[in-house]
Amino acid sequence: MEAGITKEKGKVARLAELSWKEFGELVPARYDAVVIPVGTVEAHGGIPLGTDIIIPEYLAERLAGRLNFIIAPTVNYGITRTMLPYPGSHAVAPATFRQYVTEVFVGFGRMGFRKLVVVNGHGGHVDELREAAQVAYRDADLFTVVLHWWLMAPEASEEVYGGEGGHAAAEETAGVLAARPELVKAALLAGLNAAKYEKGVFRMPFPRPVGVREFGKAMPSADVESAKKYMAVIEKRCVEAVEEAFAGWREELGR
Ligand SMILES: [Zn+2]
Repeated sequence: MEAGITKEKGKVARLAELSWKEFGELVPARYDAVVIPVGTVEAHGGIPLGTDIIIPEYLAERLAGRLNFIIAPTVNYGITRTMLPYPGSHAVAPATFRQYVTEVFVGFGRMGFRKLVVVNGHGGHVDELREAAQVAYRDADLFTVVLHWWLMAPEASEEVYGGEGGHAAAEETAGVLAARPELVKAALLAGLNAAKYEKGVFRMPFPRPVGVREFGKAMPSADVESAKKYMAVIEKRCVEAVEEAFAGWREELGR
């Protein structure tokens, strides 16, 4: 079998599968960009505890298949907040997470990467990822794009699901359906209760295992065709966002 750089699924190269010699030959000469999925372990209504890991790993692989990236091993543990009391949820402290992801990003700069794409699956550590990206530039000259995929196509939620959902609702269910359809079990989606996001109201814990913007809209659905349609838009948006950032960096800053 040939060396780990081109096997399976097209041209996708995985950092953890390369030898140090292969890595030294490939980075930065052939790959100057790395993509890392970041998530958390958290209860998600009727879909898996690893939803925030599964979806960014899927998107990172799709991006790496279309753009010239190496896929880095995932950051699996994050800042779970309002879902923490639900069984199976896990959280690390915000300051620890911020410090850890910052050092992970800075480490990519030291390894020879010039550009980083973060595919984030979890809303609880958006601020920390932004701060880490800023430090990674200051300390390691790394240019970073952070993608919070579920925020990227509200009009596709409207079009496919009749409205925007939220935690463990139609969008995340679509992501798991695209990535790991066998993990979406219709019986677990039936009869789920959702709470509405209310302006000016904070609840700890979140009172229901699913969050939506409007009752009756964008509830979790096991419909594969809708999921494909929605996730195709997300994937396209992610590719466009990265290409746009890279083009700007190249043309304005010579990176
Ligand atoms: Zn989630």
